Amino acid sequence: MNKLLELIEKAKNIAITGHVSPDGDCTGSTLALYNYITENFEDKQVRVCLEKPSMKFSYMKGFDLISEDPFLEADLLVSLDASDRERLGSRGVMLDTAKNSICIDHHITNTNFAGFNIVEDFRSSTCELLYTLLDYEKISVNTAVCLYTGIVHDSGVFKYQSTTRQTMEIAGALIDKGFDFTKIIDDTYFKKDFNAAKLLGLVLTNAKLEFNGQCCYGVLDYDTWTGYIDDKKKMDGIIDNLRNISGVEIALFMYESDKGEYKVSLRSINKNVSSIATALGGGGHIRAAGATVYGRADELLKNAILPMIKKELDG
Ligand code: 5GP
Ligand code: MN
Ligand code: MN
Repeated sequence: MNKLLELIEKAKNIAITGHVSPDGDCTGSTLALYNYITENFEDKQVRVCLEKPSMKFSYMKGFDLISEDPFLEADLLVSLDASDRERLGSRGVMLDTAKNSICIDHHITNTNFAGFNIVEDFRSSTCELLYTLLDYEKISVNTAVCLYTGIVHDSGVFKYQSTTRQTMEIAGALIDKGFDFTKIIDDTYFKKDFNAAKLLGLVLTNAKLEFNGQCCYGVLDYDTWTGYIDDKKKMDGIIDNLRNISGVEIALFMYESDKGEYKVSLRSINKNVSSIATALGGGGHIRAAGATVYGRADELLKNAILPMIKKELDG
């Protein structure tokens, strides 16, 4: 038996958490484990402590029970899809209060911050890794839907380099459980509100090309994006449109998440953007990384971000 199942067997009160601004992989992996435990282990108390994910993920069972508050009485804390303690936000305190903690993750920048750590950075997604720790016969359709969503999102619908034969085989084994996978991909990956689509158009209209067309970047200030949409999560995917421009090796999107605070997203075709994000105080994967930075966008770009991108492009 693996360490995750061994710790679950021993615990009575279990808290499941993941990173701030939960994405498809984080929401999928936390709710997959929630469903797996509640359906297969009698008399365990399980809570999912997580920032509220986008409503587009509300079809996953257990979504309505997600609570932002830490659960301080847990015997076991399971952290999914988070690379370091800071990424847990205010829920990081559970690392101190829980008797045991285990981190399941696939970020190359993972700091092994929990009591036990299962980190496999070659995995497409935390959902793929989590699947390998579970018993297939005990995976219900509810759990399968969650795992499939995470794999689809973090692999860019099976497109990123992190996708392997095993990723495909696992996705295949999951769809055997029987659910509408086309709808999951359409509704959560591709569809956009009309206003979010217009905002994407605005970013592309104002985007800039640098370094002989190898870098494309877009910036949105607070007043601009809030004039279009009510939820920052509706900007997911803008970065992929910048990365998809011919000739671009590194794409950058930054939006003002709060006055004077910018959320930076970096994507590459082959270069290492994880090192740039780490230098900015963030982290991530080789080809997809991010950070939060403070100051004025033009100065941050000129003095820090663009020089680092140039260095990576030249290296
Ligand atoms: P995104 O650009 O979609 O926000 O994030 C891309 C990848 O970088 C994700 O795997 C995410 O976990 C990671 N990432 C984004 N922002 C941060 C951050 O502030 N700190 C760390 N450690 N990782 C981040
Ligand atoms: Mn994630
Ligand atoms: Mn992930």
